[in-house]
Amino acid sequence: MRKIKKDKKFDITVVGGGLTGTLMVSILINSGIVEKNKLCWINTDRKISTDKRVSFINYKNFLKLENNYGINLSNQKFININKIEIHNLDEVTPITLEDKFGHGVIVRNDIFRNNLRIFDNDLTVYKSKVVDTDYNEFHRYLILENGNKVNSSLVLSADGNSSALRQLSNIKFINYDLDHTIISGFLNTKNFHFNTAKQIFLKDSFIGLLPFSKNVTNFVWSLDNRILNEKNNFKYYDEILERLNTFFYKNGIYFDYPSSKNNKLQTYPINIKYVKKPFTKRLALIGDAAHSIHPLAGQGFNLSIEDCFNVMNCLHEAKNIGKDFGEISILTEYEKSTKSRKNFITLVTTILFYIFKKRNNFMNTIINLAFKNIEKTSSKQIFKFLARGY
Ligand SMILES: Cc1cc2nc3c(=O)[nH]c(=O)nc-3n(C[C@H](O)[C@H](O)[C@H](O)COP(=O)(O)OP(=O)(O)OC[C@H]3O[C@@H](n4cnc5c(N)ncnc54)[C@H](O)[C@@H]3O)c2cc1C
Repeated sequence: MRKIKKDKKFDITVVGGGLTGTLMVSILINSGIVEKNKLCWINTDRKISTDKRVSFINYKNFLKLENNYGINLSNQKFININKIEIHNLDEVTPITLEDKFGHGVIVRNDIFRNNLRIFDNDLTVYKSKVVDTDYNEFHRYLILENGNKVNSSLVLSADGNSSALRQLSNIKFINYDLDHTIISGFLNTKNFHFNTAKQIFLKDSFIGLLPFSKNVTNFVWSLDNRILNEKNNFKYYDEILERLNTFFYKNGIYFDYPSSKNNKLQTYPINIKYVKKPFTKRLALIGDAAHSIHPLAGQGFNLSIEDCFNVMNCLHEAKNIGKDFGEISILTEYEKSTKSRKNFITLVTTILFYIFKKRNNFMNTIINLAFKNIEKTSSKQIFKFLARGY
């Protein structure tokens, strides 16, 4: 049996040092809703993030972070996106979504995370993984790998797509493997418009392109595993460059290998996780632990940001009426407030994935006809709604 070293008591414990966990801790500290010595963070990640991926943060969330939660990114650290173009194979024209106020901003994950300054004396931090959990009427217990036992009124678990706490606390979820691999990296570019994001649907894959600097673009490439497994030594850069340069030849946009400082590729299997009820006794899931979606619309972290906002609304309500943070009515309220956006985004991104994945030439012709008509009608507002967050 594991030897329990200490038994510390907190009001709130946040698990996870990814984007969601770090944002949640930062917002909790800034709000002052919980005393410093009553807040705990279980964070096994490095203090300074090196995650060079980029995220699209929709305008609504960006403004709320800035205006309601005091999280400011200076102008040099993000790029405004005021145009989104959705391209399809054999298209006549792309669907173009323009917004003079901006759809949102692009920021590098490490810049965003490192900008959320959290100081050691702000709270108690444990650098050891959660390996077990239990609860009673008043507390949730977390047992850490190093033998410590943490005891809280409420645990907010941001432990990612493979969430250990979701498993350990028997929260039910649906897991669906999309049989695609996500490849993310950077390319040098010529004539790629600085404030435009693009999503390109090709026969065997989808490519999201986000401008990163004047001549550098970030890509998120979702590739069918059958294509990836066909070749023994799959040359990622050669393959993506061939696809992009062939596709954009008509537009005069040119892509090239990245410089050595930008040539690190990241690959992930992609699976959807749908968690109908993201809470149990004195524990709520937030971020990818509560919902993992296909990144084709760049909304995964946006849903996580909204989880943090929803948690805060529920905690403020609890505090105002003198309720304990981990009471079931507070957790039920959290679930209600996340439900419609989570369902909408999961549904739309999954439908888009299958429409564009399962196609043949006939389907593609239909899609292009639909694209042509959507461009002229208000139906394209659904894409705008998806991108902008409202
Ligand atoms: C290629 C790609 C591009 C994307 N682009 C966008 C985009 O443009 N816009 C957008 O909104 N979203 C985007 N997303 C989604 C977004 O990146 C994720 O939704 C977000 O990073 C999830 O963060 P998280 O903190 O919830 O999870 P994670 O980043 O997975 O963090 C989980 C944390 O939990 C910790 N942990 C795990 N197990 C334990 C344990 N047992 N005990 C303690 N700690 C534990 C880990 O160490 C880690 O710190 C993209 C995703 C991918 C794959």
